[in-house]
Amino acid sequence: MANVADVSHDTSFKGTGVVGGVRYARAVWITPRPALPTAGAEIPEDGRENEQSRFTVAADTVSSRLLARSESVTGAASEVLKATAGMVDDRGWRRAVAKNIKGGHPAEYATVLATDKFIEMFEKAGGIIAERITDLRDIRDRVIAELRGEPEPGLPAVDGQVILFAEDLSPADTAALDTDLFIGLVTELGGPTSHTAIIARQLNVPCIVAAGAGIKRISSGTKVLIDGSLGTVLVNPDEDMALAQVEESRARAAKIAQWTGPAQTRDGHRVQLLANVQDGATARTASTTVAEGIGLFRTELCFLSSTEEPSVEEQADIYARVLEAFPESKVVVRTLDAGSDKPVPFTSMPEEMNPSLGVRGLRIAFDNEGLLTRQLDAIARAATELGRDDTAPTWVMAPMVATVGEAKWFARLCRERGLIPGAMIEVPAAALMADKIMPHLDFVSIGTNDLTQYAMAADRMAPSLASLTDPWQPAVLRLIKMTCDEGQRQDVPVGICGEAAADPLLAVVLTGLGVNSLSAASTALAGVGAQLAEVDLATCRQAAVAALDAEDALRAREAVRAAIAAGQPG
Ligand code: PEP
Ligand code: MG
Repeated sequence: MANVADVSHDTSFKGTGVVGGVRYARAVWITPRPALPTAGAEIPEDGRENEQSRFTVAADTVSSRLLARSESVTGAASEVLKATAGMVDDRGWRRAVAKNIKGGHPAEYATVLATDKFIEMFEKAGGIIAERITDLRDIRDRVIAELRGEPEPGLPAVDGQVILFAEDLSPADTAALDTDLFIGLVTELGGPTSHTAIIARQLNVPCIVAAGAGIKRISSGTKVLIDGSLGTVLVNPDEDMALAQVEESRARAAKIAQWTGPAQTRDGHRVQLLANVQDGATARTASTTVAEGIGLFRTELCFLSSTEEPSVEEQADIYARVLEAFPESKVVVRTLDAGSDKPVPFTSMPEEMNPSLGVRGLRIAFDNEGLLTRQLDAIARAATELGRDDTAPTWVMAPMVATVGEAKWFARLCRERGLIPGAMIEVPAAALMADKIMPHLDFVSIGTNDLTQYAMAADRMAPSLASLTDPWQPAVLRLIKMTCDEGQRQDVPVGICGEAAADPLLAVVLTGLGVNSLSAASTALAGVGAQLAEVDLATCRQAAVAALDAEDALRAREAVRAAIAAGQPG
């Protein structure tokens, strides 16, 4: 890996943590991919058949190697390797290569051209399909290396424990990981639903994705401390501090493994732990964990590649898959939060200068109420068909509510359909107006991701602003406190459904502030529950006071650690 200027002591980077755990080891970059060929000389007509068979042999070799590897592992890792082999065997892709060879291109370049065509198609489809582009590039590179007789690109040989760094990991690389040696993963690109993330979860290797281009400045051999819950990478940290954090993380992992719920503080104050899901599959997975229900169903993620609005019946079917995963518990469905980083093609929004400040969330229905009412009809239909009632309530909330009028309008549309209305508190205006907004609603849920972005005026997608887009910022905590105080005064339940709910230490503060529920990725819930079990409510309240009073996010964390230590018995 060619590196720009090396980074110095204590430099930190922030990405999206997808598997928790703290690890300290040398960084190692993945073996580079082959340089891609340029067009090259045209193959004469009589050599093209031979060129085609060179390609076929290389592609068959890559495919059978991947299949053989799939048999040596189990579960999702095996499925991923099989799926990658399937892409090498894909008839459409092979036909595209064959067409290029027939046109006179050498096999290597024909492979590049065909793959580019597919990448373009996947990019257009967007969303989850676009995340498979890494897989396409991976098969292209493997076939090119095979055609040239070069070693397979991918994992380097290492002689001790390392943390693997890559631009993005291919599924085949991740699935072949020896987790005794590769004890952590950090990628520049990728997303929480990428293959890297899926396999890292299965292997239970601490993993951070989307850490940004800055990590390229970390050279192989540099010592790094990674925290897979917080998504942080610290370069050349103080060794004693790093080892202490690793030890603490291992002790915590042991406790978490034994924790079964339901969540309560040491002195019995209950906090509901709920899961964030995006479809039937993630809801079913959540139902096998300690999650007591669903606190955020991000419906827009079901439609990232839908160019036409699904009918009420089709939507009802999709929602039913999620509701039926929790037949006896609360499920909170969020109406479409399209726009900004989550484009939903059928909502056909105009290009905007500032998408995150534009027509997103509930705003997409301002000029198109039917879009919202059809979705509410579909949610009501799914709930009725499954016979859900007060014992398994279906709550519905609107994203990006900013005014009392919006809350009233949304609540009326919900109540007309027998649905229980709520709103996300993620625009600072909504927290500031909580006293006026709450009388119209049955619950609220604080979206700390956006609340932080808007309170700090810092783009949540910008890795370089990670220290600002931190829900530990006391300014954000003060907005949460205002909302919780009002919730208690008006007896309106207040939940948290942003990433803050997945941070065990912050969960102590949020409990102290009076939240009723915490909703996060289901894999993070046991960590939160185990932490709450160690503190009493008085300590949570002291931690909250200390965090609110801190000057900045770093000091807030320190003050809370101190408050928890002081609150330990004996
Ligand atoms: C949030 O903003 O905190 C939230 C939960 O919603 P999303 O991350 O989907 O914007
Ligand atoms: Mg949000």
